[in-house]
Amino acid sequence: MMRQYELVEKVARYDPQADEDLLNRAYVYAMKAHGNQVRASGEAYFNHPLEVAAILTDMKLDSATIAAALLHDTVEDTEATQQEIADKFGYEIASLVDGLTKIAKLDMVTKEATQAENLRKLLLAMSRDVRVLLVKLADRLHNMRTLHHVKPEKRHRIAQETMEIYAPLAGRMGMQLVREEMEDISFSVLNPEASKLILERLARLRSESGDLLRAIEKELNEALASHGIKAEVKGREKRPYSIWRKMERKHLSLDQLSDIFGFRVLVNTVDECYLALGIVHQKWLAVPGRFKDYISSPKQNDYRSIHTIVIGPHSQRVEVQIRTYMMHDIAERGVAAHALYKDIREAAKAKDGVRIPAAESNAYRWLRHLMEVLQEGDSPKEFLEHTRLELFHDQVFCFTPKGKLIALPRGATPIDFAYALHTSIGDSCVGCKINGRTATLVTKLQNGDEVVIIRSDAASPPPAWEAIAVTGKAKAAIRRATRADIRKQYAGIGRELVEKLLARQGKTFSEKEASAAVPRVGHKNLDDAMAAIGRGDLAAADLLKAMGLAVDAKDLRAVRKKAASKSEEGKFSLPVRGAAANTALKIFHATGAVPGERIVGIVTPGEGITIYPIFAAALEQFDQEPERWVDLTWGVAEEGQRFPARISIILANEVGALAQVTQVIGEHGGNIDELTLQARHGIRDFFELVILLEVFDIRHLNEIMNELKGKPLVSEVNRVTG
Ligand code: MN
Repeated sequence: MMRQYELVEKVARYDPQADEDLLNRAYVYAMKAHGNQVRASGEAYFNHPLEVAAILTDMKLDSATIAAALLHDTVEDTEATQQEIADKFGYEIASLVDGLTKIAKLDMVTKEATQAENLRKLLLAMSRDVRVLLVKLADRLHNMRTLHHVKPEKRHRIAQETMEIYAPLAGRMGMQLVREEMEDISFSVLNPEASKLILERLARLRSESGDLLRAIEKELNEALASHGIKAEVKGREKRPYSIWRKMERKHLSLDQLSDIFGFRVLVNTVDECYLALGIVHQKWLAVPGRFKDYISSPKQNDYRSIHTIVIGPHSQRVEVQIRTYMMHDIAERGVAAHALYKDIREAAKAKDGVRIPAAESNAYRWLRHLMEVLQEGDSPKEFLEHTRLELFHDQVFCFTPKGKLIALPRGATPIDFAYALHTSIGDSCVGCKINGRTATLVTKLQNGDEVVIIRSDAASPPPAWEAIAVTGKAKAAIRRATRADIRKQYAGIGRELVEKLLARQGKTFSEKEASAAVPRVGHKNLDDAMAAIGRGDLAAADLLKAMGLAVDAKDLRAVRKKAASKSEEGKFSLPVRGAAANTALKIFHATGAVPGERIVGIVTPGEGITIYPIFAAALEQFDQEPERWVDLTWGVAEEGQRFPARISIILANEVGALAQVTQVIGEHGGNIDELTLQARHGIRDFFELVILLEVFDIRHLNEIMNELKGKPLVSEVNRVTG
């Protein structure tokens, strides 16, 4: 186990400005917090955070990151609280530890293999600070190193998760060493036979080829030196998992696999990279089609290097990677390495600089951002602090109750969520719960929200949803459903017309007879024809004629008139979107509701919908009946249309007080519909005035309320919440 002073000294060695006091305090605090806890291996638990911190010192990270590493499991696993960390270590450390505690909860969510990509994104989106992710990766790396102590079933799950989520994440952050180690350990757990086979084969090759690695190293070094290039050549074996992947990808057997040796040539400048390449190709035959220049076109994770495969001295294929020292450092340690290139601008002038990939994908915009901050900031600490992962800022990730992850664009609502699950779920959606609480369907979803969709088979999506939904899938489905709904309504009207015409002749409607006549009026089926009649595209009389019946013009007029007046009935004058046509609507009397404020509807079967402002306390009584909730939005009111709003005014009990109030309301063009005066219990010299106002909209209402608040005799003005 690393001692306290060893850790502090190690940090101080690469960072002279290290906060030694902070490191000492974090060490002692974490050690005490974990107390007698032990890990699966039986060793003291504190050894784990200490090892995680040690991994991060290898990456030369700042004191805050190291302290956060020491503290990373305290809030999750010990008596320590977030507040205590904040009090003792300040905001920066506390927010890092908080980020880690939040991510730790993610590990408990059930995971399906197909969810890996989304989970990776969620992890990124939830790690506001790059350092959180760096500690998390180090944490996982240490857990992998000690995985053999864990029970087999659990071991398998952790290895799977690491392979799917953490190793690729490390790769994307450019930390190849961490990625390779994670992959190799996971591989040995997930596929022990293959792993063993490859390790044996590597051992045999090693003994057969003797010092081939050293021989080639020497030869390369000499060739480069004779051309005046100062280079460092390092040979290495490919990692077991990368060999396995290649075998799988190319359907090769182990014996067919030749290029398991790789060489890295490290030079000082970009120019020397290309010079060295020329020398390598002069010396050995290049394998055609295997040359890749990631210097002129870097990979998305900012990886830069030249790769080539040549036929080596003993006719085996050998991969050679050529890059500068700086490129190498970034390739091995990724984001962590970037942080330390504080003199990057000087480096850019002296060496080759860091070119930013021209064609960058959204996912890697953050890396560009890193680079920009890097070039502006003057200390690595500042760089890390100001680096917020903006990755996937245009997406939110939500869960179903079973832990399935749904990715949606930012601003998406539960309606989008429902349609993302299935069109039929969207179509029948009537309400939702977010994180266990009833919420309206217009709520904007946040990362990590768990969403339960409440459905009703009778429901069809109100047309106004089209404006609320943000995903194309939801919008298209709502439009389709709305169209089908309208068509159904027209068909109903059409059928009513036809039935009435028949009734006037003393006949009853027969679906069979009507259907037989449909082709003669140019329609495919009865529903089509009925909808056409309802819309007015087809005369009902024509269908009757096609059925061989005569129609009296007088009958036709009478029926039409009746149908027209019927459709006028039940029409409402409230400009509200989101309710089906012909629904009776009324505003909740105790509060009122005015355009411009958020509203919600409550369905009362047989009566219609009552509109409540979202703040109405009376809504609580419907919490257990989410199926009665309807999302409504205001439409455009008619010119001069007024809406009720009930307000309460606490007024001094003095002469002229009431007059002041009515004067303000009158001057602003508000109407008073009801007015009640009541003594305020317990408050002497004041009384409460409750007024049901009639105003045009929320602006009009606020104008009046604000003016009232400014009056000397008025003590308080509030909306009545019911
Ligand atoms: Mn941990």
